[in-house]
Amino acid sequence: MDSRKKLYFFHENDPIITEKILDLQEVAERYGFTIVKDFRDANVIASIGGDGMFLQAVRKTGFRQDCLYAGIAVGNTRGLYCDFHIDKVSDMIDAATTEQMEVRRYPVIKVNVDNEGSFYCLNEFTIRSGIIKTFVMEVFIDGLHFQTFRGDGLVISTPTGSTAYSKSLKGAVIDPLLPCMQVTEMASLNNNSYRTLGSPFILSGERKLQLKVVQDGNDYPSMGMDNEALSVQHVQKVDIELSERRIKTVKLKNNSYWEKVKRTFL
Ligand code: NAP
Ligand code: MN
Repeated sequence: MDSRKKLYFFHENDPIITEKILDLQEVAERYGFTIVKDFRDANVIASIGGDGMFLQAVRKTGFRQDCLYAGIAVGNTRGLYCDFHIDKVSDMIDAATTEQMEVRRYPVIKVNVDNEGSFYCLNEFTIRSGIIKTFVMEVFIDGLHFQTFRGDGLVISTPTGSTAYSKSLKGAVIDPLLPCMQVTEMASLNNNSYRTLGSPFILSGERKLQLKVVQDGNDYPSMGMDNEALSVQHVQKVDIELSERRIKTVKLKNNSYWEKVKRTFL
């Protein structure tokens, strides 16, 4: 049996969605897929929902390297991670039966807090003040002290995360063919005492970014990996780099990254 064809659906327990999935299952089985109940047995993981759901599907299944992820949208929007729509089954059949189906590889960020284990982000890592007071961090690039940041916080995003939080902070939209990470500021203080670059900056995938939280009492920031909060409380330093991992998704014809950006924003 084709080892590519073990399919797992990641979805909410919504009765309407559950019913639509039954139809999808039937079609999938007709085209040679086996539906599995445990994501560990799957080699295709389909998230049913928007981008937020796709982020959760990737996170809850452990950023797997040995399987393909597919985003299936429901409702009116079709997110940046969703190449399919639950009501357009023909697209899915095409993708499943076309030999020369393309696979995209999306860069992922790896974050380590106080040397206590690493975690991954597909959109971004966020670190921000947990209280009303400004929050201070020393920012190092490859060991070079680059700047002292004082303000609300920083967002470090992947190329595919560039259309999410980072974009709201006036970050550039980045082609995911470029393995890199973008740093955007959240309300930095800039005056005669405090100075930051003030504009977003993009680091090559070879660079290492380090944030040292100044231990001035406001050293309990809230941190987020995509749409999940990190339960760590006190923080001294955070190391951020591009991971070796890539998230593989199915690419449909006429559905390049820039087509998706156009469809979403223009
Ligand atoms: P949410 O707060 O419900 O949704 C934020 C919006 O961002 C949703 O419309 C979501 O699309 C969209 N989105 C997620 N990833 C995207 C991407 N890569 N490109 C374009 N749009 C994207 O939370 P969520 O749905 O769980 O998504 C989590 C993400 O929200 C975070 O990773 C962060 O990037 C973003 N966020 C943005 C802000 C901001 O802009 N001020 C603040 C907090 C978080 P769907 O509706 O399809 O899910
Ligand atoms: Mn959402």
